[in-house]
Amino acid sequence: MPAGGEHPVLVTDKYLRERSAWTIHPCQKCGLTELFDAPSDLMRVVFPNVPEGAVMEAFTSFCPLCGGVQALEFRESRDQNVETPPRQKAWWQIWK
Ligand SMILES: [Zn+2]
Repeated sequence: MPAGGEHPVLVTDKYLRERSAWTIHPCQKCGLTELFDAPSDLMRVVFPNVPEGAVMEAFTSFCPLCGGVQALEFRESRDQNVETPPRQKAWWQIWK
């Protein structure tokens, strides 16, 4: 369930995996704090010219419910990825 939302949102495993690495600021219109697509998928839609594997530190997207603006901000997620081997960096850790 999104915070402040009326309806549960169906999301994918990929979405949930990526979700923890991002801070999603509430939609400026309706306050929705969830996305309907995984951040990496969304990024490719919003920025079609960004090379494969590149990660933005922050970007904005249109709210899937009302068309308002949602801002996404990448955050450190070290605590949630303690089981990740240190030498094998995930795609979102490339700039550390
Ligand atoms: Zn909205």
